[in-house]
Amino acid sequence: MNIEREIEKIKEDVLKALEQIKDRQSLMDLKAKFVGKKGVISEWLKRIKDFGEEERPKLGKLLNEVKNYITELIEKHETLIKEREKENKLQNVSFDVTLPGRRPIRASFHPVTIVMDEIVEIFRELGFFVAEGPEIEDDFHNFEALNIPPDHPARDMQDTFYIGGGVLLRTHTSPVQIRVMESFKPPIRIIAPGKVYRRDFDITHSPMFHQVEGLYVDRNVKFSELKGTLVHFAKSIFGKNTKVRFRPSFFPFTEPSAEMDIVCVICKGVGCRVCKNSGWLEILGCGMVDPNVFEFVGYRDVTGFAFGLGVERIAMLKYGIDDIRLFYQNDLRFLKQFS
Ligand SMILES: [Zn+2]
Repeated sequence: MNIEREIEKIKEDVLKALEQIKDRQSLMDLKAKFVGKKGVISEWLKRIKDFGEEERPKLGKLLNEVKNYITELIEKHETLIKEREKENKLQNVSFDVTLPGRRPIRASFHPVTIVMDEIVEIFRELGFFVAEGPEIEDDFHNFEALNIPPDHPARDMQDTFYIGGGVLLRTHTSPVQIRVMESFKPPIRIIAPGKVYRRDFDITHSPMFHQVEGLYVDRNVKFSELKGTLVHFAKSIFGKNTKVRFRPSFFPFTEPSAEMDIVCVICKGVGCRVCKNSGWLEILGCGMVDPNVFEFVGYRDVTGFAFGLGVERIAMLKYGIDDIRLFYQNDLRFLKQFS
């Protein structure tokens, strides 16, 4: 066979091979076989030196033409394969444009946070400032300065988480009162929301729960102001027709002390299991600041009132929740009801 014919035949070989090729990898293999560094064309180019001087330029030119032809052919084929792959991909993905879109899950605040924010907002509108204190407290701020002497039952090991060395987890938010009065001169009007800890766990008690503490100190603060403030609070959070009553009570750091009740939200005062048939529900403790407390912080010639309430308790009454543990189980079916 004549040499030129033989070289022309390479093109036919390539065309024939291309008919069988469906994917890019085989195409690349074919490219290497014919126009790669060790491919058919390269082998031919090496052989050129064996021919006569007249023939060499002609053969070289022909080989280059064939090489370009094959390269172009392979590139075209590659484009075809790519397009086919893209089409296949689209065909395999089917869309139903009538389906509703997927919405991102919307988060919501925890019911304890919602109620705590609501409580804080009511008092902020009355001119109270938010104050915070440490959850790990010392005995002085949590007990002694609040007029709770060492033999007081509130210090019982069964109620308090002691860390040791006179350090404990605060059992109430009242130590914030002491810290604020130590640092600022009267008048004081603060609200202190936060976590507190007690060794207690059942359907109405949790070892960690939230309290809001309030303190108002100035010259001539009266019990009537305490009543007015807390009645306003109860009506703001439970509705303006809410009936309240004050009952005498005892707390070491207030004198006189009282507890405030609202008419039972379940039975409206008739009497039920929740209110133990009394028709009333206790929602907070309060009183006039005990003069002994003022002495511990060096305040003179002032009076004041303080109050403290459990946020979970308020939330349970407001939303009709009968088990405090629901707040801490992170059950979405429960939490979603507050979004
Ligand atoms: Zn009731």
